[in-house]
Amino acid sequence: ARIMTIYGTRPEAIKVAPVIRALEGSGKLDSVTLVTGQHREMLDQVNDFFGITPDHDLDVFAQGQSLNELMGKMFTRLDRVLADDRPDAVLVQGDTSTVVAAAQAAFHQDIKVIHLEAGLRSGDLFSPFPEEANRRLVSQLASLHLAATSTARMNLLREGTSEATIAVTGNTVIDALLQAVRAEAPFEDERIADAVAQGRPIVLVTTHRRENWGSAMEGVGRALRRIALENPEWMIVLPAHRNPLVREAVLPQVTDVANVIISEPLPYDQFTHLLSACRIVLTDSGGVQEEAPSLGKPVLVMRENTERPEAVVAGTVQLIGTDEQRIVDEVSRLIHDQRWYDAIANAVNPYGDGRAADRTVAAIEHLFGLGDRLPDF
Ligand code: UDP
Repeated sequence: ARIMTIYGTRPEAIKVAPVIRALEGSGKLDSVTLVTGQHREMLDQVNDFFGITPDHDLDVFAQGQSLNELMGKMFTRLDRVLADDRPDAVLVQGDTSTVVAAAQAAFHQDIKVIHLEAGLRSGDLFSPFPEEANRRLVSQLASLHLAATSTARMNLLREGTSEATIAVTGNTVIDALLQAVRAEAPFEDERIADAVAQGRPIVLVTTHRRENWGSAMEGVGRALRRIALENPEWMIVLPAHRNPLVREAVLPQVTDVANVIISEPLPYDQFTHLLSACRIVLTDSGGVQEEAPSLGKPVLVMRENTERPEAVVAGTVQLIGTDEQRIVDEVSRLIHDQRWYDAIANAVNPYGDGRAADRTVAAIEHLFGLGDRLPDF
């Protein structure tokens, strides 16, 4: 069977990369890759690191386009490629516009849909932000649901998804992380290289999420400024997302603070190196909160709710919201209370053991009658 992996953003690229490699090694399946280009440089960085040259590139990126313009372009261009290539299934990951466009375009052409990282639910049915709707839409269309955890599997079962179509695999982000962190990539940014070489304690910060655009992100910026000024021996490192709305909200608050480093997005191997070198992670990212606990780093999540409750239950992350004072307080607590720090840092990561890609491929082989049973994590 021929599997077309379709992806469009940096986090998708990271999570599908180990699967693409495992598909290539399967011997029973053919692999073809398509990028939509929903992100551009950040996506290319990841493909470069993993040595993946996409077979198709739809190049849909344009600054400031609406979600509907983006979806329209993707539908039209995907329709043509799918009609020409006729894969037996498309594999999509996560909850972006790329995922919904690809799943629906495939569904309309009677091509099976395989959903990686299926079953995440924030429970917020009326969220004005697209991710939760995207997750639910792709669940309706998929023939195989690859759940990272048993919690995700339960969510799917509760919605009536057939048990025989779900496999629990662990999250492939851990496979990617363990590969990248081994590279111990040197830092191109000299300020980061120096901070790490000097053993400065580092708070690593990422923020990008649509629900935090605007005043919440301005509050994050003000909190970072206060944390930096109150803790001059610490460094705050913020690889700034390319989205101008993110940059306009956060950067003006911190550009003139000596112990805040604003960098461009880091290539994945440098980012994971920094993740392993930092002390505290402050983020609104999904992927980063899954990765950091595998390196023993406590994570403060700047969101009001989460589709990743396993991490909260396991104690690897604290959900702290975006209130400026709360962010300052929670970071201070981790800086000053070593027992609290250790309790979070030593909690066990529920997301994976680094072998999710092999389980994913075993589940896909099973879908096509090429493997005896669904794997389980
Ligand atoms: N990441 C990266 N470079 C950076 C920041 C993040 O490679 O400068 C990686 C990070 O390790 C994680 C992924 O990008 O695997 C997370 O992407 P993002 O936060 O944009 O999206 P989300 O995970 O929230 O969907």
